[in-house]
Amino acid sequence: MKILTVNAGSSSLKFTLFEMPEEKAIASGLFEKIGLNGSSYTIKYNGEKITKEYDLKDHSVAVKKLMDELIALGIINSLDEIEGVGHRILHGAQEFSEPTVLNMDVVQAISKYNELGPLHNPANLMGATSFIEALPNVTNVGVFDTAFHQTMGEEEFLYPVPFEWYQDYGIRKYGFHGTSHKYIWKFMSEVLGSSAKIISCHIGNGGSLCAIRGGKVVDTTMGFTPLAGIMMGSRSGDIDPSIIPFIMKKLNKSADEIITMLNKNSGLLGVSGVSSDSRDVEAGANEGNERCALAERMYAQKIANFIAMYNNLLDGADAIVFTAGVGENSITMRKMIIERIHSLGVATNDELNNVRGEFKKISTDESRIALYVVPTNEELMIATDTYNIIVGGNH
Ligand code: ADP
Repeated sequence: MKILTVNAGSSSLKFTLFEMPEEKAIASGLFEKIGLNGSSYTIKYNGEKITKEYDLKDHSVAVKKLMDELIALGIINSLDEIEGVGHRILHGAQEFSEPTVLNMDVVQAISKYNELGPLHNPANLMGATSFIEALPNVTNVGVFDTAFHQTMGEEEFLYPVPFEWYQDYGIRKYGFHGTSHKYIWKFMSEVLGSSAKIISCHIGNGGSLCAIRGGKVVDTTMGFTPLAGIMMGSRSGDIDPSIIPFIMKKLNKSADEIITMLNKNSGLLGVSGVSSDSRDVEAGANEGNERCALAERMYAQKIANFIAMYNNLLDGADAIVFTAGVGENSITMRKMIIERIHSLGVATNDELNNVRGEFKKISTDESRIALYVVPTNEELMIATDTYNIIVGGNH
């Protein structure tokens, strides 16, 4: 059965076509600059890559072009072969805690929460609408970044603020990267068993940690928005909220402008003054740039602090998993983090830690908590959720 996964942004659309349940990615690609000048698309198939400039007026044109190309390239013979389309949707709030079959009424219901994810949700739903219109007989499924975290308890998801803020406006921790953390959980539960306690460290451009016990989220670092938690590439993570009105007055900027600076000009970029990309910051540190070195130490320390906190919350974790761009690939950053959780009795060495982008246990036999590198695969998780809904007959 062929399942398409889709991640639609405001001017982009990423897709992967899977053969399920074999979990085989057949083709993938990206439509870029939708609605802008210079739009184009790239499709990868059979070890080949085609890139074409094409006037992509809106998402519907991109979806139509994708369908035409899948047939023209011989990837599928007819559109009937696609039995499901899984859509990544950032925010499902409290209502959408499971992958959900989409139709126009459901899209409308999800759009109630657009103000919780104003940068992503409208675009995600635009993508979904285009597919519902283009493939009316196919099961479209929404897979929410927030859904996995809906298993959190009140002690963790509530903020200690006036209770009415939660009741009246839904102010609570939602958590993000749920699809990635769920994938890591599924993968690790096959290694360690279904009652395992793991700390999943999704460290990419954005980053979040998630404490998981027996498939349920105990806590996660992102919050009401993805700005909270650990220090990230260009996001600050947790800061004292009183800084915001103070710096608004000093810089004569609005709250929205300061939040943008906390999202886009902070984190590794803000401290180093060089880049949000950990490779650039690492190179800077190696060349003796003190602020790059400082940014790296801060980044590692904040992640280490949350790991220690989550180890306590889980009453002793069985495994700590590193994933996403930095977690999978940065040998240096993993080493710096692991050095800072020495008190937990974890142990690795340079030989074990010498891995990029593949599954590996990187702890020594003496380590009290096992350490792993696991490449995440959000697309496969979306395809799996979509497949399960279709074969389960809930559509
Ligand atoms: P996102 O999905 O949040 O955009 P990714 O998970 O793709 O991000 O992670 C991107 C980040 O991963 C890059 O900004 C870079 O810092 C880091 N990264 C990727 N490859 C490497 C590498 N080989 N060494 C160190 N860092 C890497």
